[in-house]
Amino acid sequence: MRFNGPMTAEEKTALAVFLDAAAASLTGGRRRTEALYRFSDDPPPGAETGGGARQALEGLDREIRACAACGLREKRTQAVPGTGAAEPLLLVVGEGPGAEEDARGLPFVGRAGQLLDRMLNSIGLSRETNCYIANVVKCRPPGNRDPLPEEIAACRHFLNRQIAVLKPRAILCAGRFAAQTLLETSEGIGRLRGRFSVYGGGDSGDGFYAEASPGAGIPLLPTYHPSALLRDESLKRPAWEDLKLLRSRLAELSPAYAESAGNSP
Ligand code: SF4
Repeated sequence: MRFNGPMTAEEKTALAVFLDAAAASLTGGRRRTEALYRFSDDPPPGAETGGGARQALEGLDREIRACAACGLREKRTQAVPGTGAAEPLLLVVGEGPGAEEDARGLPFVGRAGQLLDRMLNSIGLSRETNCYIANVVKCRPPGNRDPLPEEIAACRHFLNRQIAVLKPRAILCAGRFAAQTLLETSEGIGRLRGRFSVYGGGDSGDGFYAEASPGAGIPLLPTYHPSALLRDESLKRPAWEDLKLLRSRLAELSPAYAESAGNSP
């Protein structure tokens, strides 16, 4: 019997029966019947499959990749919609794609991205399982300059719509620009970080998020951008304090997270 990739229900049943037979032969114990090991490929009742969200995200990805609504289209290699779990606990929002992200079409994939992954992993989070990672603008600003107000205005509805689909339990803003944009403030990151604010849906005026989740406010935690941590070691300690704060809040919001990685030291 060979198992390549995720096991089907039939394979799970066969493996369970085999293991039970092995245990019985070792212990002389009574074997169970195969009926006790009946697996199903159907999701358990009430389980969320994420299929609808995934489909909606794929539709948004296509729209973003085809978008030419602002000047950033001219120098991009490709747009970078975002990546991660379709029903995430956490949405990480950065500023915009850098050179490597522009080349690969994925957010946070350079050295800063690797550090972000390690930071998330340290509190039981990852883009593969329970996080989604996106940026305020989806195309690379030339020379890594801040996006212009008109570029943010043109692009903002994409992030709003991603949030409406993803329905994250919390948002982590990586860096000054993302935090200031989502919180509509000019306060510096040193004053914004270290405490939760509430994200209310942005000021794009399209009402998309408010419409999708009436009255919802998502806890939003600003922290330093990983590239700032690479430049300045002294920021690592406050960034770790932010991660611990995030871990505590997610543990309050999700018993499953609290039981697993949420309680890791
Ligand atoms: S930055 Fe946003 S609005 Fe501008 S072209 Fe890219 S996807 Fe479109």
